[in-house]
Formats: sequence, C-alpha cells, structure tokens
Amino acid sequence: MIDRSLRRTLVRSDIDSAFNSHTLLTNHYDYIITGAGCAGLSLLYRMIQHPFFIDKQILVIDQSPKNNNDRTWCFWEQQAGVFEEIVHHRWKQIDFYSTGYLARFDLEPYEYKMIRGIDFYNCVLEKAKQKSNIHFYYGKVQSLTAENNKPIVKAGDQQFEAGYIFNSILFYDVLNEPKGKYNLLQHFKGWLIETPTNVFNEHVATFMDFRVSQNHGTTFAYMLPVSPNIALVEYTLFTEKLLQPHEYDEALKQYIETYLEIRNYAVAEEEFGVIPMTDYSFSKAYGNIINIGTAGGQTKASSGFTFQFIQKQADAISNALVNNNNPHIAQSFSQRRFGLYDSVLLNILQQKKMGGDKIFEQLFKKNPPLRVLKFLDNETNFSEELKIMGSVPAAVFLPAAFNELLV
Ligand SMILES: Cc1cc2nc3c(=O)[nH]c(=O)nc-3n(C[C@H](O)[C@H](O)[C@H](O)COP(=O)(O)OP(=O)(O)OC[C@H]3O[C@@H](n4cnc5c(N)ncnc54)[C@H](O)[C@@H]3O)c2cc1C
Repeated sequence: MIDRSLRRTLVRSDIDSAFNSHTLLTNHYDYIITGAGCAGLSLLYRMIQHPFFIDKQILVIDQSPKNNNDRTWCFWEQQAGVFEEIVHHRWKQIDFYSTGYLARFDLEPYEYKMIRGIDFYNCVLEKAKQKSNIHFYYGKVQSLTAENNKPIVKAGDQQFEAGYIFNSILFYDVLNEPKGKYNLLQHFKGWLIETPTNVFNEHVATFMDFRVSQNHGTTFAYMLPVSPNIALVEYTLFTEKLLQPHEYDEALKQYIETYLEIRNYAVAEEEFGVIPMTDYSFSKAYGNIINIGTAGGQTKASSGFTFQFIQKQADAISNALVNNNNPHIAQSFSQRRFGLYDSVLLNILQQKKMGGDKIFEQLFKKNPPLRVLKFLDNETNFSEELKIMGSVPAAVFLPAAFNELLV
C-alpha cells in the first residue's frame, strides 16, 4: 500500500507517472537519483533511452518540482548532442574583447549552443512521465548513508534504499565553508533584455568581454543574442566574495549602455548564479553512493563550465551500468593532468599574480580558438597543451606550477 504521507508530498505530474502506470512507490529501488537538476536529469535521460533500464525501478528525489527557467546553459560541441532537440540558439562565431585585444572567431567545426533550463527540465520530465518504472518524490534530502554497502537516503519524512544512489546534492555551503586551498566563486547576474528595434547580430555571441572594470578581480561580461532584438547579457566575476545585489544591476546597466550602446530596453528575465571554483577534491563515491554533477567534481575549477562535463559523466555512468552494473568510474590520468592545470590557474587568480583578463587575452591572441575551446573542455593532447603553456608568461606560470606539483 502507498503510505498516505508519501502520497501527500507527490505533485500531480508525478502522481500521474507513479500511479497511472499502476506501479507503487516502495522503499527499495534499483537506482535513486538525488537532485533533479542538470546532472540528475542528464543521467535519468540516459536511463530513459536505454532498454537496459526498462525493468529497473528508479526513484528521483528533489526538494521541489522543476518548473522555473532558473538557468541558461551554454557550451560548445562539434556534433549534434544528446539534447539537440532543445537547443534554443546556436552561434558559429564568437567575439572576444579585452582592453588590448579584440577578435571575431569562426568556431567551425564547433558550435556554441544555448539550452534554457526550463526546456531541459520539461524535455526530460515529459519523457520520464511516460515510463512506469520511474518515480518521483519531492522532499528535502536530509542524509545519505551507506551502511554495510547499502545506500540509504532520508528525505522528507521517508527513508529509501537502493542498489546505487547517484547524488547531485552539494552538502556544503560554498559561500561560507571554503573547502579547498583555493576557493574562488564564479558569481554572475544575467538579464534577458528586449529592445524595441533590431540591434543585435544574432549570429555572433560575445564569449568574454573583459573591457569592464577589473577592480574587484577577474571580471567580464558576455552577450548572447537569440534574435535581432533579444539578448542575454551576463556580468560575471571570479572572486572570493559576492557583491552587493545592487552592484550587479549597476554593472549590467553600465555595460549595456557603454559597450552595447543600448539605452532603450526592457528586462524580460533575470538569473543569478554562484559556482564554486576550487581545487577541493570532491568525493567521487562513498560505497554505492556515487556523486554526480558539481557535487561529484564535474565543475571545471578554472572556468565554471560544467554542462558538458556532466554529459560525459552521465554517458560514462550509464555505459558502465549497462556493461557491468558497476558505475564506479576511476579518475583518468588526463583528468588528473587537467586538475593540475586548473589548480595552477586558481593559484594565479586567487593570489592575484596575473589578472584573468590578461590570461584569457594571451590564450586567445596566441592560439587558434579551437585549441583554446578544446583545452577548456579538457580534450587537448599534451603537445597542444605545451602550445597553450607557451602562450602564457612563464615567469608567472612556472613558479605556480612548481608550487602545485610540490604540495
Ligand atoms: C545560473 C547558472 C547558470 C549556469 N550556466 C552555465 C553554463 O552556461 N555552462 C555551464 O557549463 N555551466 C553553467 N552553470 C554551472 C552548472 O552547469 C550548473 O550549476 C548545473 O546546474 C549543475 O548541475 P548539478 O546537477 O550539479 O546541480 P543543480 O542543477 O543545481 O541540481 C541540484 C538539484 O538538487 C536539488 N537539491 C539541492 N539540495 C537538495 C536537498 N537537500 N534535498 C533535495 N533536493 C535538493 C536542487 O533543487 C537541484 O534540483 C550554471 C550555473 C548556474 C547556477
């Protein structure tokens, strides 16, 4: 029988999927996914698509239903991706600006793509609703334990067990509990602005614009036009502390007026985000609890980009489950190499040995953009990385690299 208190916490759409399909929520599942955000739903999407999972009972837990457009993801890739059908806009060219350099780059064979959070959530949840083996529970996760190799999650007033739990909930406060040696925050505010006349070239995105003041530390704006009169404009910092809320608004206003030269516009939507940029070694697994997404170390420490790393991790985990039912993925040598590069950059940024504006300027000035994008994706080989290293000042980077190798 279905517990009545459990029934109360289910929302309508989940009752549809859990009850119309004649499957009952029990306390034991093959897999539980905690956190129905980017990582949780990316993994669920693979499970929906592969026949291996058709007879597996899967429970997804989140503190609340996903019905807001709470974030916009941008990333680059060469082919059609898993979420191609919901790509909201794509660009084949990007602009880079700093005070000493500006350039427009052709991205071929890459495309820079944008996915809106709400389209992503709806896409995965609509497909999940059609599967009788996928269940949802809405309640705050209080604890995850793995006693005798048996993962248990306590959420709301319930307790569930599973063969494996895939956890994307970050159980520490990135603002107030610095965990690593370097603990920068990538924090940003974005406005989706609409203008009465056509002012944007929707074919070119501004990837980074460092012409803004660097007084707070590494700071840039970016601009993503999705039509001739609509663009997402973001003001982003890599620093240790957040700004006051009004400071992001003032900076956005100033950027739009000064650099985009737009005075007449309306703000249609806003987004705000904080992403940890840390060398902290996120625990990959605890028994049969596997951490995924930002909680599983999938945020690139030196840039904050996460979306594509989450997709790679979701592919790796679902393939491993299909092939040998063992989703523990060992860290590769190349991941450790890129971890070192990230720490070197964090060392330089946090200790203010060189500004991020100058570093990215050198990277884009002295390398083809494809090499830079490949490097930021952890996809370069060592000979390409030597060229990247050769493009930044050795006097700054070598001591930082030795420091990271020795500690
Ligand atoms: C506004 C914003 C924009 C971003 N843009 C980009 C981008 O353009 N490109 C890029 O590569 N990366 C971007 N990122 C970084 C990264 O891709 C996202 O943060 C991504 O959502 C991380 O996925 P995740 O699953 O790890 O965490 P989330 O997507 O945050 O999912 C975690 C889930 O856990 C749930 N949860 C949390 N605590 C509990 C609890 N105690 N109990 C139950 N549920 C809980 C939350 O409700 C949430 O649904 C952005 C981040 C933000 C915040």
